Amino acid sequence: MKVPLLDLKAQYAKIRDGARAAIDAVCEEQAFVLGPRVERFERRLADYCDAAHAIGVSSGSDALLVALMALDVGPGDAVVTTPYTFFATAGAIVRMGATPVFADIDPATFNMDPQRCRDALRRLSPARGKLRLKAMMPVHLFGQVADMGALLEIAREYGMAVIEDAAQAIGAEYPLRGRSRKAGTMGRIGCFSFFPSKNLGAFGDGGMLVTDDGALAEKMRVLRNHGAKPKYCHKIAGGNFRLDAIQAAILDVKLSCLEDWHQARRENAGRYDREFAGTGAQIPAAVYRASGLKNYHIYNQYVIRVKDRDAARERLKDADVGCEVYYPVPLHLQECFRGLGYRAGDMPESEKAARETLALPIYPELTSDMQEYVAQTVTRR
Ligand SMILES: *Cc1c(COP(=O)(O)O)cnc(C)c1O
Repeated sequence: MKVPLLDLKAQYAKIRDGARAAIDAVCEEQAFVLGPRVERFERRLADYCDAAHAIGVSSGSDALLVALMALDVGPGDAVVTTPYTFFATAGAIVRMGATPVFADIDPATFNMDPQRCRDALRRLSPARGKLRLKAMMPVHLFGQVADMGALLEIAREYGMAVIEDAAQAIGAEYPLRGRSRKAGTMGRIGCFSFFPSKNLGAFGDGGMLVTDDGALAEKMRVLRNHGAKPKYCHKIAGGNFRLDAIQAAILDVKLSCLEDWHQARRENAGRYDREFAGTGAQIPAAVYRASGLKNYHIYNQYVIRVKDRDAARERLKDADVGCEVYYPVPLHLQECFRGLGYRAGDMPESEKAARETLALPIYPELTSDMQEYVAQTVTRR
């Protein structure tokens, strides 16, 4: 049986008519960059995320970049983040000339661990004369929100602004002081990606910024368009970080399906959880499940830990099952960050996760037969 890691054709088969009509409408209008369709989608996304403002941008990576630009993060500034994430998180910090400070993960959730974050900040203190601690960038990895209650408290103590990298967690919820809060709305700015493999994926690149701060929203709107306001007047330098109307039109169609897709992914996760019970494969923790939240996890990825990971990966490959390692090399060990001075052993939990984790197909259209086949292939000796 062939089981791809992600089957976007299966998704397209269900939204084909709506998607084609949306593209046709933009073709008739011949208005391709920003404009009313982008504004309409921004409004709907802000409502979906419980945010006051949403600003459409060209990608999730650019959302992170614009967020840092809006908070004037630059040379001499430190941004604390996780080394166990997609490259863009730390890449954006470095592109602004700032310095990433890595804090190791909680092995249960793969998210930045509050205690290890405190430790990393404490270790930094002698150097604080040189580096200004400006921001914290937690990532809600694989679709589960980081422990924001504790992280927000640390950020408050150190006077850091919080930028949430919610690229993998649109719609995911967190129980903050007993109240359900959506990913991206607990810090100053939230960043989303519409890369095709995300739960809400465009037909190309796209991203979104959300904030409750009206002045910051206005600044980010201007920054995404070269800092021009009014046209041809530039008080600040921005870039071309604009969202296309075709992408907004597609995303508008898909947004109506998103809650059903989250639900289907959760049901698939539950099926895997049962398949893997007692097999030695460690299922992903869903730490907020008991708090009564609907989207306690949106399973952008279903990531297990197995001791003989590379052997399991080979078996899956031979059995025609797609899988992937997110992420094989933690960011503190990437060649381009060698200058930061980290060494192997500095982030033991991230390094261990990089050796043991395996992402399995979890897309909404996956059938129970496929899941059984995947699970049996993983655990076969
Ligand atoms: C996908 C992703 C990004 C980048 O988004 P793009 O739209 O691909 O630029 C950033 N951070 C994380 C955690 C991601 O998963």
